[in-house]
Amino acid sequence: MSKNTLIIGAGGVSNVVVFKCAMNIETFGNITLASRTKSKCDAIAKNVKSRLGIEIATASLDADITEDIVKLINETKADIVINVALPYQDLTIMDACIATKTPYLDTANYEHPDTAMFEYKEQWAKHDAFKNAGIMGLLGSGFDPGATNMFCAYAQKHYFDEIHTIDILDCNAGDHGYPFATNFNPEINLREVSAKGRYWENGTWIETEPMEIMQVWDYPEIGPKDSYLLYHEEMESLVKNIKGLKRIRFFMTFGQSYLTHMKCLENVGMLGIKEVEHKGMKIVPMEFLATLLPDPASLGPRTKGKTNIGIVAEGIKDGKKRKIYIYQVKDHEECYAEVMSQGVSYTTGVPAMIGAKLMLDGVWSGTGVWNMEQLDPDPFMELMNTQGLPWKIIEMDI
Ligand code: NDP
Repeated sequence: MSKNTLIIGAGGVSNVVVFKCAMNIETFGNITLASRTKSKCDAIAKNVKSRLGIEIATASLDADITEDIVKLINETKADIVINVALPYQDLTIMDACIATKTPYLDTANYEHPDTAMFEYKEQWAKHDAFKNAGIMGLLGSGFDPGATNMFCAYAQKHYFDEIHTIDILDCNAGDHGYPFATNFNPEINLREVSAKGRYWENGTWIETEPMEIMQVWDYPEIGPKDSYLLYHEEMESLVKNIKGLKRIRFFMTFGQSYLTHMKCLENVGMLGIKEVEHKGMKIVPMEFLATLLPDPASLGPRTKGKTNIGIVAEGIKDGKKRKIYIYQVKDHEECYAEVMSQGVSYTTGVPAMIGAKLMLDGVWSGTGVWNMEQLDPDPFMELMNTQGLPWKIIEMDI
């Protein structure tokens, strides 16, 4: 019997998810796309129809309201909900999935709108409710988190008896021609990169000032780039699930122009997330800034260059030291040619589709709330190769 898929959110990542689900229609069946602004859903549906000839139903939905989500899940008879709205909506959508016993997937962990702090606590707290409802909730099925967790699980399964250190390396060498823009939702992106850095070593979290630690990494197919240590959410689950881990860090590349703009915006208070009074109105500076910046979805046609995201893992296999690098390189223009999106949306949207496909096809099953690395990485890694994200593994000198 044909399945029903409900996708929530209609931004850059959603565009890729909808295209890729439509390309795998034998799994996803009848697709409904719902978001706050219905016209954005209609625009995506129109492009999918004209490129692939597949109909996508659209609906207006405020995903901050659990009852409205429940109603739409019931109307569409959804077999899965793919949440690619914002992290603020994770909990309301999860609650609607519990109420209707519908499997759930997202790409980013919950973040409270008033605190620039993201963690899994609230989502993990729903484990028993998901278990009792007999459904799976898959957390963080994007690229990082998502594919990076799978790379770690794959390394653990096939390459190591024990992994001692992991560095997650995220390089975007794309150029969109604007002096300053973000590749995904500006508010979420700027909150992430302006926060204090953090890494985990010997059982404790070590905090750094924002952008305090910089290393130059030589990224295959791109070259050497300044890479800054950030806190990133997948580390929270990986420290629990990877055997023998002694240290994990996350690095992301930033160009000087991006950093100078960000510092200046921060210095004048434009990254603030608390309301300020402006001519008798209340505004949140970060939200106002997001309004001024280019819509990430509009960067697609103008972005050139490549992304390279991967992990370097070091540990022990059969009593000997070993170090490997697993990475994926994607070309922004190739992504746009295929699905009308730039590489950051593409590398997030494809793993979201793959995670949902494995759930709907029954390859990944179970009840409760899961992080990616708790599941078998092999079918996910195979689908990355065939669905547009081929990866490589190299052995490195120690
Ligand atoms: P966008 O800002 O482009 O899109 C977000 C969409 O969510 C918009 O269509 C927006 O609606 C919709 N939305 C916001 N609030 C609501 C609401 N209350 N009800 C219904 N819809 C709502 O973001 P991106 O596409 O760039 O990112 C999507 C998600 O992917 C984010 O959670 C982001 O953190 C995550 N991400 C994950 C990555 C990974 O590798 N794991 C990497 C990059 C992103 P409207 O159009 O009305 O504003």
